[in-house]
Amino acid sequence: MKTVYVDNNATTKVDPDVLEEMLPYFSELYGNPSSIHSFGGEIGRKLTEAREKVAALINASPEEIIFTSCGTESDNTAIMSAVQAFPFKKHIITTRVEHPAIKNMGEYLSRNGYRATFVPVDDKGNLDLDYLYKKLSDETAIVSIMWANNETGVIFPVQEISEVLQQRGILFHTDAVQAAGKVPVDVTDVKTDMLSLSGHKIHAPKGVGILYVRKGTKFAPHMIGGHQEKGMRGGTENVASIIGMGKASELALKYIDREKIEVAKLRDRLETELLAKVPETIINGDRDNRLPGTTNISFKYVEGESILLHLNELGICASSGSACTSGSLEPSHVLRAMSVPYTAAHGSIRFSLSRYNTSEEIDYIVEKMPPIIEKLREMSPFWEKR
Ligand code: PLP
Repeated sequence: MKTVYVDNNATTKVDPDVLEEMLPYFSELYGNPSSIHSFGGEIGRKLTEAREKVAALINASPEEIIFTSCGTESDNTAIMSAVQAFPFKKHIITTRVEHPAIKNMGEYLSRNGYRATFVPVDDKGNLDLDYLYKKLSDETAIVSIMWANNETGVIFPVQEISEVLQQRGILFHTDAVQAAGKVPVDVTDVKTDMLSLSGHKIHAPKGVGILYVRKGTKFAPHMIGGHQEKGMRGGTENVASIIGMGKASELALKYIDREKIEVAKLRDRLETELLAKVPETIINGDRDNRLPGTTNISFKYVEGESILLHLNELGICASSGSACTSGSLEPSHVLRAMSVPYTAAHGSIRFSLSRYNTSEEIDYIVEKMPPIIEKLREMSPFWEKR
């Protein structure tokens, strides 16, 4: 059975060119980049090259790039650094729709002596900016707002926010894990102090992340150890993955137009045809303000998890917007924050495309989806009662 992989916001395939670039660093080139001898020194030079390539992806300087183990570590480090660097500021602001790497950190801090504000969104997933600005205070250590949402693809106005925060002298972090490689991410336009990226969302391997820290930003390390990353993140570098991240960043820049145009076209056709063929179907999130490859579709009156199981049998890999918690299917915090009605939130599926998806794959999904929904609705008590 063929696999149709449309779950690229969960993780992406490692690009073959990325893999090729990495392979020698698992075998003959195994030196430690911190070693004095030239066998290790050579690896150090490759890390410098990778740092330059990652910096170019976001238009930063290489010295502003810290390699971490994942997007979660980068997100956690940004918040922990801010609260440690400004010990008298006991307030943080984020949104109700952040990835758990930020959302759960906010909740953790609010149980440990801090105040955390979670900015709401409207029914299209757009941020309530007035609410955000009203909550800013001299107590605020950091504001962390994602560049683009992982479930709906909705893009937040990070440039405007960064300007307001810069004027107010409040630290800004943005989680650009889902945005990078799909839309331009440029830290000279968006004046963020810190920014997170993750390798496995841009066709690099899992286990490598980036924290961008703008020159001059007060920073407290989260991983205390050796002198690696100029003392800003201890631990011997994940050399092969970092080299892969460098190559993936280079490719992400090269292919960004393909993401913006070709991938968006495939996504739009998938949406249009599913909406035409399956009644009582809605798109979650602002259709005019989204990442090119993401769509979050609610098939009303059915369970997303049941849809996923049927898709799985046909080799189609997607995600649902509900998760099984304590035996019941709970819609995700993102859909709840958007007040998506119960009957729709439960039947939500996220398809996230990449440059590897083809028009034939979209045809296959469009062909297979309507009978699945029809069959599930026949069994649904909600469908009968509607
Ligand atoms: N932030 C966002 C928006 C994400 O989508 C993810 C992963 O899904 C992360 C952070 C966490 O990244 P990682 O899996 O590298 O820890």
